[in-house]
Amino acid sequence: MKAVNMMESFVHDVIERNWEDLNMPCSCDVCKSDVFALTLNALPPRYAVTHRGDLYTRIQFLKEQFYTDVVREIVNAARVVAEKPLHDV
Ligand SMILES: [Zn+2]
Repeated sequence: MKAVNMMESFVHDVIERNWEDLNMPCSCDVCKSDVFALTLNALPPRYAVTHRGDLYTRIQFLKEQFYTDVVREIVNAARVVAEKPLHDV
């Protein structure tokens, strides 16, 4: 049995689309993944069993409900990572 956290693909998508606007001092994979992880920790997981076509519809639904929250949490996470990156500056 396989369930996926739909919030993951949703957050990933929003980060990719808005990464430039976050004006991060560093854009390496470590910082990006850190923003991704921190954002997911701040949001409720939304698990679903994978059915290909169905998943897209569900993510769209999630988007309507959580878009504002997701953007807000990404901005918060980006601020934390910008101030304290996991690696040496
Ligand atoms: Zn970095």
